[in-house]
Amino acid sequence: MGDSKNFEKESTYSYSSYHTDLEDENKLLKDTVNKLKTDLDRLRLPPLMVCEVCDLIDDGAIVKVPNGNKFFVSFSKDVKIIPGDTVLADQKNLNIVRKIDSNKIFDVNKFVIIEKPDIKWNKVGALDQQIQELKEVIELPLMKPELFKKIGISPPKGLLLHGPPGTGKTLLAKAVAKSTNSTFIEVVGSELVQKYIGEGAKLIKEIFQLAREKSPSIVFIDEIDALAAKRLDIGTSGEREVQRTFMQLLAELDGFKPLSNVKIIGCTNRIDILDPAILRPGRLDRLIKVPTPDKEGIKEIFNIHTTNMSLTTNIDFESLSSQMDGFSGAEIRAVCTEAGYFAIRKDRSKVKEFDFIEAINKVKSVDDETDYLQMFG
Ligand code: ATP
Repeated sequence: MGDSKNFEKESTYSYSSYHTDLEDENKLLKDTVNKLKTDLDRLRLPPLMVCEVCDLIDDGAIVKVPNGNKFFVSFSKDVKIIPGDTVLADQKNLNIVRKIDSNKIFDVNKFVIIEKPDIKWNKVGALDQQIQELKEVIELPLMKPELFKKIGISPPKGLLLHGPPGTGKTLLAKAVAKSTNSTFIEVVGSELVQKYIGEGAKLIKEIFQLAREKSPSIVFIDEIDALAAKRLDIGTSGEREVQRTFMQLLAELDGFKPLSNVKIIGCTNRIDILDPAILRPGRLDRLIKVPTPDKEGIKEIFNIHTTNMSLTTNIDFESLSSQMDGFSGAEIRAVCTEAGYFAIRKDRSKVKEFDFIEAINKVKSVDDETDYLQMFG
C-alpha cells in the first residue's frame, strides 16, 4: 500500500516536471523562431545609403550621397536632424529613415595603424646619407624648432622616400619616429582609394586631425602614388574619387605650418608617375632616394640581421655577402630568417654557413620578390 502511494507521488512529480520541461522547450523554440523571423525581415530590407545632411530647406533637406551628388529629399518630422548630421536614406527615393552617430561608422582609428615604433638608427643599414637627411628635415625641426625661428627659415613640412621595394623606406620612417618620440600614423594610399570608396577625402581630413591630436607625430603615407599619380583622364567616378582624395591631401599639406609638430613622409616605388603638384615647394619638396645596397651595404645589413642569431664560428660573411649581389634589405633579412628555419628543421641550435647558402638560393629562386616581402615584411 505504502509503495503504491509512493509511486503515485513519484509519477505526479515526474509528470509535472516533464510538463515544465516541455513548456520550457516550447518557449525556447518559440523565441528562436521569433528571432529568426526578425532576422529574416531585417535581411529582406534593402540596404540604406549613408548620406550627409548639407542644409534644411522648408520641409525637406539637401543631402550629399557618397558619390558627391546632392539631392533635395523629404523626411519625417519625427527625425530630428541638423546640417552636418549623418543619416540613413532609402536607396530608391532617398527619404531619410533615421539619423546615426557618424563616429560609430566612421572611426578613423580603424583605417590607420598607430604605433610608437621601437626601431633605433643602428638597425638601419647602409643608408647613412638618408639618415642624415631625415635628421635634418624631420628630427631637428621637431626637437629644436627654436633654431629655425632664430635663423628665420621654414623647414620642409614633409618629404618623399622613393626607391625599389624592400630597401628600408618604412624602416627609416619608423626610426625617425622613434628618435623624435613621435606617434607613427601609417596609412596606405591604395587602401584609402580602393577600400573606403567615397570616404577617402574625409579620411585624409580625419587622419590629419588625429595627427594633430597625437602630436608630435609622423604621418606615413605608403604607396602615395595610388593617390598622387598624374591623371590624364578623370572621367570615371573612381578617378574623380581619387582626385577628391588627392585634393584633400594637398589642402591639408598647405593648411598646416612648417613648424607644427606634425610631419608627413610619403613613400613610393613609382616616383616617375607622381603628379608634380605633390612635390611643389611647401608640400613634399624633399626627395630622398633609397637605393638597393651596394657590396659594402649588403655586408652591413647582413651584419645587422645576423647579430642576434646563434651561429657556428666558421662562417665566411664576405663570401656569403658576395652571393647576395642585387638583394634588397628585405631579401637579406629573408635569407637570415630562412637560414634559421633550415637549422630548426635539421634540429640544430646553431646556424651554419651552408644554411645561408641554401637560403640565398631559395630567395634567388623566388621570382617575385614581393612574395618575400609578404612573407617576412
Ligand atoms: P616597400 O617599398 O615595399 O614598402 P620598404 O622600402 O618600405 O618597402 P621596408 O618595409 O622598410 O622596405 O623593409 C622591410 C624589412 O627589410 C625591414 O623591416 C627590415 O627588416 C629589412 N630591411 C630593409 N632595408 C633595410 C636596411 N637598409 N637595413 C636593415 N634592414 C633592412
